[in-house]
Amino acid sequence: MSEKKVRHILGLSGGKDSTALAILMRQKYPDLEIEYFFCDTHKELTETYDYLRRIEDWLGIKIHYLESERGFDHWLDLHGGYLPSPRQRWCTELMKIKPLEKWVGDDVVVSYIGIRADENRDGYISTKPSITARFPFKEYGLVKADILHLLEESGIGMPDYYRWRSRSGCYFCFFQRKYEWVMLAQEHPDLFQKAIDYEQNHRDGRTYTWTQGETLLELVARKDDIIADHQKAMMRQQQTQPNRPLAEALATVLDEEDDTLPCLACHL
Ligand code: SF4
Repeated sequence: MSEKKVRHILGLSGGKDSTALAILMRQKYPDLEIEYFFCDTHKELTETYDYLRRIEDWLGIKIHYLESERGFDHWLDLHGGYLPSPRQRWCTELMKIKPLEKWVGDDVVVSYIGIRADENRDGYISTKPSITARFPFKEYGLVKADILHLLEESGIGMPDYYRWRSRSGCYFCFFQRKYEWVMLAQEHPDLFQKAIDYEQNHRDGRTYTWTQGETLLELVARKDDIIADHQKAMMRQQQTQPNRPLAEALATVLDEEDDTLPCLACHL
């Protein structure tokens, strides 16, 4: 009986680390047959879809778009209108992990994950015994600066949203920091309004909030303060490390506000 073929998979999130990982794998293992996938919630920024197309073009790869059988609104309904949150992350489970597990089935799989050598976080590592996780950045000792270098050198560069947001994911993701919400309102007012609608439009008349302690309307009402604080923090960064790339400085400043580590299924 012939042995079952091992599948090699790499999840792209539309973020910088998973993209850099795809570049690294191409450099180190040019002959390895890798299947690339993206778990599409249909709630991502257009910049993310643009970036995924750019990755396909530059690397000459095909990305498999995986999706849940039902959309976000269906699952929200099923959860009685309770918006997902860091403690109730049903969106990741239902819209990212389950579609992935369905796609791999019972195949024997090696999953390449872009956790950097300078990171200490856990992520989704399937409990399926048929899936083995590998962390090539850790194996090669690559840190944040190496990742930025890989992206620059390849010509792919950063996703456009890195001007104002340091994490990939849904436009309403509750892992966003206050400044990122303010910038969402500026860059994508239509999406910001939809996020407000998700907070307000519930049959029970209640208002749920995406961020802890305040509604998006309350948050945006103090946008001048949030922007001023952000600019001060950016200035401090530029004074201490003047040659730092802007994207790196932005990520550091946003992490100062909230360094909760989001999940690997969505933010790499
Ligand atoms: S990006 Fe955020 S909101 Fe979207 S599925 Fe992931 S955790 Fe949930």
